Amino acid sequence: MPLATLGRWRIGGPADFVVTPRDAASLGRVLATIDTLGVPRVIIGDGSNLLFDDDGFRGVVVRIGRALDGFVVHGDGVVDAGAGLWVPTFVRRVIDAGLSGAVHAIGIPGTLGGLVTMNGGSQRRGIGENVVHVDAFDRHGQTHRLDHAALAYSYRASRLQAGDLVVTSVRLRFAPGDRAAMHREARSILRARREKFPRVRANCGSVFVSDPKLYDLIGPPGMAIERAGLKGEAVGGAQFSPDHANFIVNNGSARASDVLALIRIARDRVAELSGIRMDAEVRHLAPDGTMRPAHEVADLIDVARYQGN
Ligand SMILES: Cc1cc2nc3c(=O)[nH]c(=O)nc-3n(C[C@H](O)[C@H](O)[C@H](O)COP(=O)(O)OP(=O)(O)OC[C@H]3O[C@@H](n4cnc5c(N)ncnc54)[C@H](O)[C@@H]3O)c2cc1C
Repeated sequence: MPLATLGRWRIGGPADFVVTPRDAASLGRVLATIDTLGVPRVIIGDGSNLLFDDDGFRGVVVRIGRALDGFVVHGDGVVDAGAGLWVPTFVRRVIDAGLSGAVHAIGIPGTLGGLVTMNGGSQRRGIGENVVHVDAFDRHGQTHRLDHAALAYSYRASRLQAGDLVVTSVRLRFAPGDRAAMHREARSILRARREKFPRVRANCGSVFVSDPKLYDLIGPPGMAIERAGLKGEAVGGAQFSPDHANFIVNNGSARASDVLALIRIARDRVAELSGIRMDAEVRHLAPDGTMRPAHEVADLIDVARYQGN
C-alpha cells in the first residue's frame, strides 16, 4: 500500500504491509506475531506528523484505527480515553463532561495516541500536563502501565517517541470548567486557525518546533523562516506555505526528498541569521523502520544540489 495514502502530506512510497487491528486484543496478537516473525514494524495514528520516505518502508505499518476510541468519565476530573480517539472528538467530550484543560488541542488533526506521544497542543501547552498514565503494549504484546513521570514529557517530546511501546489507552485528569465558556473558546481557536493556517494543500502542520532562544531573538519558527527570505520558497513540489512559513505544503507532486531539502535549507539559513539550528517536530520514517525527527535526516542530504532553487 502506498504510504502516501496514510499520511497528511500525501507523500511516500509503498509499505510492504499495513495492519489496522480492530480492538486492543487483536492489536496485542498482531504485535506478538510481528515480534515472532522478526520483521520491522512502526506504529502510526493519523500520519499527521509523519514524513514517509520516497522509497517506502520494508516492514509492517500498524495503524491505530478509530477502533480504540473508548471514553469514560470517572469522578474527580479523571477520564480514560482510547488511543484511536480523534483529537477534536476527544476535546469536545472533555468539554461536555464539564472539564477544562483540553480546549487548546481542539484543532489538532490526529489520534489521541499520537497526541500523547508528541505531547501535542497549542498556545504553548502540551497534553502531557494532564496525562496521569498510559496503558501500552511492548514489542511482544505484553501490557505495561507508565505513569506521568515515566513518560518524561518535555516540549513536543516524550519517552513514547522511542517507538518501542504502543499506547492503547490514556488516563488524564482535568479541572472543572464552564461548558459554555469552553465551547466559545474552542470556536474562537478554530476560527483563528482557519485564518492562520493553509487548508487547501496537503501539509503536516508546523514543521519546526519553537526554540525559546530563537523566540527571544526573532520570534517563532515561521517568522524566522520568513526573515531568512524563505516564505514561499519551493523545492520540486514542496513549498514553504505563502500563508504560514512554518508549514511545508505539497503542491501536488512533492517528494520526501523535496521536503527534506527545504528543512535543511531553512535550518542552514536561520542558523546563519541567528546562530540557532531549528529542530523539526515532524518525524521521518526510513525504509528500514528508523523513525526520527526529520531534521536529523535532512542534515545528511547533499544540500548543494538544491541551492539556487
Ligand atoms: C493541519 C495540521 C495542524 C496541526 N496542528 C498542530 C498543533 O497545533 N499542535 C501540535 O502539537 N501538533 C499539530 N499538528 C501535528 C499532529 O497533528 C500532532 O502531532 C498529532 O498529535 C499527531 O497524531 P497522529 O495520530 O497523526 O500521529 P502520527 O503522525 O501518526 O504519529 C506521530 C508519532 O506518534 C507515534 N504514535 C502514534 N500513535 C501512537 C500510539 N498509539 N502509540 C505509540 N506511538 C504512537 C508515531 O509512531 C509517531 O512517532 C498538526 C498537523 C496538521 C496536519
